[in-house]
Amino acid sequence: MNQPLSTDWRTKAATLTLDARAFIDGQRVNAVNGETFAVISPIDGKTVTQSARCKAEDIDLAVKSARVAFESGAWSKQAPAKRKRVLVKFAELIMKNKEELALLETIDMGKPIKNALAADVGGAANCIAWYGEAIDKVYDEIAPTPHNALALIRREAMGVIGAIVPWNYPMLMASWKIGPALAAGNSLVLKPSEKSPLTAMRLAELAMEAGLPSGVFNVVPGFGHEAGEALALHMDVDAIGFTGSTRVGRKMLEYSGQSNLKRVFNELGGKSANLVFADFSDLDRAAATAAGSMFYNQGESCNAPSRLFVQESVADAFVEKVLAQVPRFTPGDPLDSSTTLGAMVDQGQQRTVLNYIESGNSEGARLVAGGTAAREDSGGFYVNPTVFDGVKNDMKIAREEIFGPVLSIIRFKDEADAVKMANDSSYGLHAAVWSSNIDRAHRVAGALRAGTVHVNQYDEDDITVPFGGYKQSGNGRDKSLHAVEKYTELKTTWIRLSMQ
Ligand code: NAD
Repeated sequence: MNQPLSTDWRTKAATLTLDARAFIDGQRVNAVNGETFAVISPIDGKTVTQSARCKAEDIDLAVKSARVAFESGAWSKQAPAKRKRVLVKFAELIMKNKEELALLETIDMGKPIKNALAADVGGAANCIAWYGEAIDKVYDEIAPTPHNALALIRREAMGVIGAIVPWNYPMLMASWKIGPALAAGNSLVLKPSEKSPLTAMRLAELAMEAGLPSGVFNVVPGFGHEAGEALALHMDVDAIGFTGSTRVGRKMLEYSGQSNLKRVFNELGGKSANLVFADFSDLDRAAATAAGSMFYNQGESCNAPSRLFVQESVADAFVEKVLAQVPRFTPGDPLDSSTTLGAMVDQGQQRTVLNYIESGNSEGARLVAGGTAAREDSGGFYVNPTVFDGVKNDMKIAREEIFGPVLSIIRFKDEADAVKMANDSSYGLHAAVWSSNIDRAHRVAGALRAGTVHVNQYDEDDITVPFGGYKQSGNGRDKSLHAVEKYTELKTTWIRLSMQ
């Protein structure tokens, strides 16, 4: 009865059945050539199962199945209200299986179980239910043409959508594609990251259980240069919804050019600027949010506010406030429900983060917290939350996305200085301004080149608002009804009317 929850989750984890076969044409299948790759948990560095290693021939089978399902109309021609019922049921099944899904996510990529449960599973279910609920409430248009003709402007399902997603929020990033793509009537081939394949196939199974016809939702685990490349180059895929690094986003555009000019929607990296002005009335809250939003999910968030700009007149005091928050994020066992900072996704990512820390040190930034690996006895891949003060905006740690728990603090003189440095980045995903002067807050929010700007907060997030970036942070928008635009074609139908 008084058993600690950590033991509880470990026990539950031990009883899980891990099935990492692909999901093609409504069934679990091995890769055609039988190849697999090891799924390693970053919690302790141990192999937990083998995943199917899909390659071009598997992708081809999945795309063919998706195309046949699309042409059959079993899903694509269903009334929106029917699609709604299936998607809402799908979301309910996600919630019914929430503990299993949260455990799979935590074991696979190392995030704290309490976050996996609340934010990832809950967020995925909410997303899919929201698109299901929305789709039978969306009207098309009739154009204001001359009265002897009628022009209908309609959005039609596109066909076969390829979704390629990263490992940092595996289920949630997949859901941001699954929800709008399926709600609009498309078929889908999803490629999860090779670092976190487990939940994607379970989602497809649950969708079938909810009533989705076979072939509408296929999942092809595998490596980027094999499964991902084959999907993005496939001649019968109509669009790619990609979330991942800017480096691979560039390749998506190339693959499109080399194949059928499929639509490409890129949701890419970030180096988000968080601007704290001396006139903000609650610097304690600003500091708690600066640290919390940075270290959440081990800093492995595309929109992590990794460049913290602080006005010089309050900088010393503010840095102290940020440092006081750091112990809240001491790395712990991801399966312990009190843990707030888990493992980095794999050893490679841990090494990358430690290399960036080394670069910060050698470029002359001042290390004021962390800077080292943690929990080394566990066999897993942990990094202590790290803060650099005295960072210059042209240092490598301020220019490149680290994707780990490393915060760079940069001091600024005045508003113009702050905005100039904040915008001096190849990325433009999120940004924030903290100021009690409404004119300044509004002016700076307008001047910041980012897809989302937060004013006096960083935590608000909702499925109703678009999420995506300016500049090299991408060109698409996930979430909200705008995401449906990505997975539909706009068709005009002219009808000549006899005025007799
Ligand atoms: P990544 O680009 O390495 O991989 C993303 C996906 O692309 C994976 O499934 C991978 O297997 C696949 N891939 C890799 N090489 C490929 C290739 N040559 N052809 C086809 N597919 C290929 O990114 P990652 O390390 O998995 O994820 C981290 C990145 O994702 C960060 O840059 C982060 O900012 C970004 N991200 C962006 C958003 C957003 O909404 N903007 C959200 C989450 C993560």
